[in-house]
Amino acid sequence: MTIKKRIVVWYTVWMAIIALVMVLAIISGSGFLIRHEALSNMREEVDEALEDIADGEWDEIDYYEDGLFLQVFSRDGNLIGGRDYDDFPPLGQDHGRMVEDGRWFVYSQEGRGGVVVRALMPASEVGTYMSSVQLMALVFLPLILFLSALGGYFIVRRSFRPADRAVEAAGQIVTSNDLSKRIGLGDGDDEIHSMTKAFDAMLDRLEEAFRKEKQFTSDASHELRTPLSVIKAECEYASKHVDDSEKMRQALSSIDRQAGRMTSLVSELLSLARADKGTLSPKYEDFCLSELAEMVLDSFEEEAEKKGLKLIAKCEDGLCVQADQGMVTRVLINLISNAVQYTGQGGWVMLRTERDGDWALISVEDNGIGIGKDHLERIWDRFFQVDPSRSSSSSGAGLGLPIVKAIIEAHKGSVSVESQPGRGSTFTVRIPLVKGE
Ligand code: ADP
Repeated sequence: MTIKKRIVVWYTVWMAIIALVMVLAIISGSGFLIRHEALSNMREEVDEALEDIADGEWDEIDYYEDGLFLQVFSRDGNLIGGRDYDDFPPLGQDHGRMVEDGRWFVYSQEGRGGVVVRALMPASEVGTYMSSVQLMALVFLPLILFLSALGGYFIVRRSFRPADRAVEAAGQIVTSNDLSKRIGLGDGDDEIHSMTKAFDAMLDRLEEAFRKEKQFTSDASHELRTPLSVIKAECEYASKHVDDSEKMRQALSSIDRQAGRMTSLVSELLSLARADKGTLSPKYEDFCLSELAEMVLDSFEEEAEKKGLKLIAKCEDGLCVQADQGMVTRVLINLISNAVQYTGQGGWVMLRTERDGDWALISVEDNGIGIGKDHLERIWDRFFQVDPSRSSSSSGAGLGLPIVKAIIEAHKGSVSVESQPGRGSTFTVRIPLVKGE
């Protein structure tokens, strides 16, 4: 059974129960109310008549009014006022309360001097009124029940229409394999609109994830294809010059370089895959961060000299951390090598390490080409390079910064960048001094 049907059946059953209880209450309540009304009417008329008799105003008495008969009896039971009809019940002794004999409602009251005033009302009149109330209850309540069930069904059906559209859109996405489709219900603040908005937002994320996945696969294949083609070409070249040891040596060294490039690319891809799976777990050890940083900076001395760059170290003495030394070395290499690579002749690269509360800060600053605002967000994307022709000369494939980010996040730290084109960039890394829980 669909939710729509379940809702309609559920509330219709409850309304039917409520209507039934109401009909029963009206039937029994109306009988009581009508009798009560008849009694107070008769009592009022009888009291008025007794007052008129006491005041000697006999001609003020209405012996018949609105279906109500009045009779006046003397102390010895003789009718002295009003008319007597054959089917009127005989005068009883129980004055002061209403008596019902099936045909008449009777009420009598004794007044001064033993005079008794009796009021009679035909039971048929009360009965007709009662049955019309009951009839109304029996006809109108089921009618209201039917109309509200019908109205409820249409409202539920209308409210669920967006859900039907959501199901239809999901079906189309599955059959057409087109993740760009959206339910797109537009504005609305009911639950189904919120649900479809969440659904659309999820599809946005999904589409973006698939797009990135495709991009990643094509970039990775592209990056691996380049060294492979070089290796293949070098092999062909070598096979043609088996007798020339110099040419053979050159071909082998080129193959070696390309194989090295492929190895580092594959190991970077593996690190990123581990980060995605959440299994890039640092092997924590205590080491002196400042010493390590200065050592890594020194290893770039030769390259910097060739480019006419100045390397400056401002490292806080004795700054020790608990982290994965291998991973932190990789972070330093990636950031310093970028700074060296993207800084021109006569420029400088400054490395700082310092303590900031419970954190260790590493910053790598340069006065190189800088990064445009539009690219700042994207430099953390895999394989993204602002200008691939500049990077292609080196082994970089646009994985250096994503790896830095993955390593720092695995250490529960953060990394940020500030940069101005033409003025230089500053990359700042924060990691906890000791392993966090
Ligand atoms: P790559 O292998 O290209 O260096 P990265 O992931 O390390 O890949 O860097 C991504 C891009 O960010 C680079 O292509 C470069 O355009 C830009 N970039 C990174 N560091 C710097 C820097 N210090 N100065 C200017 N641009 C930089």
